Amino acid sequence: MLKWFASSWRYKCPRCRSAEMFKTPLDIKKPLEMHKNCSHCNLNFEPEPGFYFGAMFISYIITGFLFLSIALLLVFYFKWSVNAAMLIVILVGILIFLKILRVSRSIYIHMLVKFEPKRAK
Ligand SMILES: [Zn+2]
Repeated sequence: MLKWFASSWRYKCPRCRSAEMFKTPLDIKKPLEMHKNCSHCNLNFEPEPGFYFGAMFISYIITGFLFLSIALLLVFYFKWSVNAAMLIVILVGILIFLKILRVSRSIYIHMLVKFEPKRAK
């Protein structure tokens, strides 16, 4: 489970966990630009058009839990005003937007493609 999470966090190929899914370095205009296939095990990273539609729900769940916990913590534990807490939530949202975008795609394909240790290096 930990290795599964580490692999999705680092955007490794879900099947071999050896190669990168996204093109690096990050191009700010095309943050979701991915390789077509895995350079190590040749897994197709986009098996069908609109495959990553489901990743939207992953990103919704992550941001929902994260933003809600930050806001609740600031308002009820640190006694901040709601407006100040909202400002922090928005700033955090801007800072981690690209990470969430990529990691939710990565988690999504990791949920659907099984790791095959034989294909790893
Ligand atoms: Zn691979």
